[in-house]
Amino acid sequence: MDLNLTDKHVLITGASRGIGRAMAERFAAAGATLYLNGRRADELAELCSQLHDDYGVSAHACVFDVSDADSVKQGFQALFKLTKRLDVLINNAGVLDDALIGMVSPQQVEQTFATNTFGVIYCCQYAARLMQRNGGGSIVNVSSIIGRVGNVGQAVYGGSKAAVIGVTQSLAKELAAQNIRVNAIAPGFIDTDMTRKLPEEKYQARLQSIGMGRIGEPKDIANAALFLASDLSSYVTGQVLGVDGGMLI
Ligand code: NAP
Repeated sequence: MDLNLTDKHVLITGASRGIGRAMAERFAAAGATLYLNGRRADELAELCSQLHDDYGVSAHACVFDVSDADSVKQGFQALFKLTKRLDVLINNAGVLDDALIGMVSPQQVEQTFATNTFGVIYCCQYAARLMQRNGGGSIVNVSSIIGRVGNVGQAVYGGSKAAVIGVTQSLAKELAAQNIRVNAIAPGFIDTDMTRKLPEEKYQARLQSIGMGRIGEPKDIANAALFLASDLSSYVTGQVLGVDGGMLI
């Protein structure tokens, strides 16, 4: 049993950039057949062809909006035409839109929860049906350290990510008997478009809170996802794996 994923069919949401893209690269290097989601068809098509050229794997673009229940349904219908098998779902797509509580708009709340929480639930629902057909699978939900400990200006984001942990733990119990494992990763502060847009002062404050003294790289999260997706973690379910360089301790 190893990290070779040549027999695994893997769907990664939000795979066009940042952490999702690093996951796509890492899983391609491990030989997985990939289904890569995002909202921009051109970017995904380019990534799929690059992964095919670099690693010789099959990679397919799955264009849908995780925040829209109808779009997710259509996305999974299209996926079902490509493959009748799904071994791994990585719910990685997410948005960050910080504001102090007095400034939060209903639109911010709705869009953040629709993407970060509802999208996870919709994708788990369809993926679990596919996994049941094939005797099991592994779902990895990307939460956040903010969903565990909170932060100033992040009530909405933190709430949406804390909910992902609740979804993970409940589904782990519900789906264990069907051999579907459900775990979460709680990244700390990772170098992507999401964190690069932070004001310099906040960026430096976050950096100083990291025990290991460096910002995380997307591949740090991708490696954790690979472990949870693979058979190396075959007896692990319902867990939240912090990958934060010592931010939480
Ligand atoms: P990012 O660089 O902003 O990338 C976000 C990805 O999500 C993009 O591929 C984007 O694709 C996709 N996405 C956003 N909304 C979507 C939607 N409605 N439907 C489908 N795809 C959508 O962010 P990141 O830093 O890599 O974050 C990835 C995940 O890690 C998120 O869930 C985030 O909350 C979590 N996280 C990040 C950090 C961090 O420090 N970076 C820390 C903790 C947790 P398109 O825009 O191209 O469609």
